[in-house]
Amino acid sequence: MLRAGGLTGRLERAIAAYLGLAIGDALGATVEFMTPREIAAKYNVHDTIRGGGWLRLKPGQVTDDTTMALALGQSILELGQVTAEGAARAFDAWMRSKPVDIGNTVRRGILHYRETGQVETPENEHDAGNGAAMRVLPVALATLEQPEEHVRLACRAQAHVTHNCPLSDAATECVALMVRDALLGADKIRLLHERAHPLARRHAEFTFRSVRQQGNPSGYVPDTIRAVFQGFFDTDSFEDCLTDVVNRGGDADTTGAIAGMLAGAVYGLDAIPERWLEALNPEIRHACETQAAALITL
Ligand code: MN
Ligand code: MN
Repeated sequence: MLRAGGLTGRLERAIAAYLGLAIGDALGATVEFMTPREIAAKYNVHDTIRGGGWLRLKPGQVTDDTTMALALGQSILELGQVTAEGAARAFDAWMRSKPVDIGNTVRRGILHYRETGQVETPENEHDAGNGAAMRVLPVALATLEQPEEHVRLACRAQAHVTHNCPLSDAATECVALMVRDALLGADKIRLLHERAHPLARRHAEFTFRSVRQQGNPSGYVPDTIRAVFQGFFDTDSFEDCLTDVVNRGGDADTTGAIAGMLAGAVYGLDAIPERWLEALNPEIRHACETQAAALITL
């Protein structure tokens, strides 16, 4: 059970990002597909890792967002690098393990790989779901010291197994580069001006300022990212960020997972509430901690 004392900043933030992913997933899954109004009526403010939800999870249990990231991270560690083949094999094995949930685009992409052996699904603008962005964290950690273009290529290699679409690519690369920048010392102001605003300038779908607060975000990746960015940039702590984002409902396990990676990377291990760390499934917690440490020393 790691706390910040004695860890280097980079290692500590990598572990916090991985735990943030799992905590956001576990917290958000309870209210996935609920509206903000339904959440408020049932919980007032939902800020307890309590399981349940449409998947009837145990308290502290995570979903595909975390388990796909762990499967991808394991394959990166075994191969010593990010490859499309490694990602495709890892996702295939992950689907055989009977995961608690799986997105339609992910399922279609893995079946395409099984049938054809192709590790890149054909380009399709309907693939603009959030499934490639939600699992990108191990790529960001494994490519920490590499040039930005290598990071982008590695992001797309894992993404294109299931999602081959410019909006998904743009979001996936942006999330990975924001985590990387934070681990290398960037603050939120830099993430805002050097990553989030440029993403919205390139693709207006991601505009998250001067637009209505994104409630009930869907799995369409611009919806997801708008909710994550509004929650992340308009709060000042790990706890407030995740609470804001998951109480918007919709695809709350995935907005929670992505917001959790970013908030963990920026605020560090000591900012994660003890009650959330203790509520997380212990095996998942251990896997996140050990994988984060191994990936950044790759
Ligand atoms: Mn999920
Ligand atoms: Mn989800």
